[in-house]
Amino acid sequence: MHIQALRGTTDLLAPDVARLARVERAARRLAKCYGYQELRTPILEDAQLFLRAVGETSDIVQKEMFRFKDRGEQDIVLRPEGTASVVRAYLEHNLHKTEGFARLLYLGPMFRAERPQAGRLRQFHQYGVEAIGSHSPWVDAEAIVLCVEILRACGVKELAVWLSSMGCRPDQERSRAALRERLRPRLSTLCKECQGRFEKNVFRVLDCKHPACQEMARTSASSPFLLCGDCQTHFGTVREGLTAAGVMFDDTKVFARGLDYYTRTVFEVRAKGLGAQDAVAAGGRYDHLVEELGGPSLGAFGFAAGMERVLMAAGDAAAEAPAPARQGVYLAVLGAALMPQAFRLAQQVRARGMLAVMDPEGKSLKAQLREADKWQCRFVAILGEKEQQAQALSVKDLEQGTQQAIAFDAFPEAMAQHAVHTQS
Ligand SMILES: [Zn+2]
Ligand SMILES: [Zn+2]
Repeated sequence: MHIQALRGTTDLLAPDVARLARVERAARRLAKCYGYQELRTPILEDAQLFLRAVGETSDIVQKEMFRFKDRGEQDIVLRPEGTASVVRAYLEHNLHKTEGFARLLYLGPMFRAERPQAGRLRQFHQYGVEAIGSHSPWVDAEAIVLCVEILRACGVKELAVWLSSMGCRPDQERSRAALRERLRPRLSTLCKECQGRFEKNVFRVLDCKHPACQEMARTSASSPFLLCGDCQTHFGTVREGLTAAGVMFDDTKVFARGLDYYTRTVFEVRAKGLGAQDAVAAGGRYDHLVEELGGPSLGAFGFAAGMERVLMAAGDAAAEAPAPARQGVYLAVLGAALMPQAFRLAQQVRARGMLAVMDPEGKSLKAQLREADKWQCRFVAILGEKEQQAQALSVKDLEQGTQQAIAFDAFPEAMAQHAVHTQS
């Protein structure tokens, strides 16, 4: 029996890696322009980190975490999201003392124990940023602009930014009570899960995918979040920032982020082609998480995007990369005795940063030329008895359609001049 990849996991072959790498490059390049620096945190974390950070009532903690005991009986999870890990790392390395305000970027796989039949991946990839150490609304606006810019650079064309404010903790207390009052008369029409959420985390009703609950959320008319004066001012400045940056947004939509740590600004970017329910990127402000994880009281803002979803939203645009130019050299060798010489020359070409491919199997010239074509090499260099005696290779330039003899000692440099450093 063949062993196969686990359901909900997938192998990434070369074309998939190339697509994913384009998203990663866009995220890295743009985040750098906004002053973000990359960090990498472990995939394994202490389960307590997410129980504390994400909240016990969230779907992630209740049913989506890969959680297990290691041999030392330590409670471990495969990280389901990035924010908690980044904040942990920020505190563990005392960045609050050395850096103060830090803008951090992360990229990598995340894990959710979702039902694979729902078409969701159990291992997927995210990029995200966390700006930790500021309460300024300009940080929110800046990160949202960055989020939109990365998506555009990835080829996501038709996107909508939903913007809202969930208010500060006291506001949320008042909003929760008000929302419960609004929903109570129709409690029995909510889905079973939301009836359970009603007491524990009533905001979750707002992002429930069940039609009856959505209907309820929508008919609740105005925003369910009651904002104090400070929160209104904060939200106003975020909108001002986005307008100044030319980013369109919709602040009339009723939605909430499902994680407990959000305060004030929350946003989602929705893209055409993903269906009405799902965001391609989302995030918000979390002004208590640093403190709840044992640090000082610091404001913070972040967002994350699922790379597979970004690629889905980009559709054909993600595949629109220019056809790769012919590059590199194929060394066709006629006879085993010449292999050491060809091997040495290939190595000298590679040392200059250029692709050099050889056939290790001693195939016929015809077969080797076919292979050169498969590799889309720009040059084919032939090394046979005749060339060995002349100490010069017969080199065909398939792009220019020319052919010339190039001496062994001039060959590596001659090739290197044509090295194409593509952005594949
Ligand atoms: Zn407030
Ligand atoms: Zn529901």
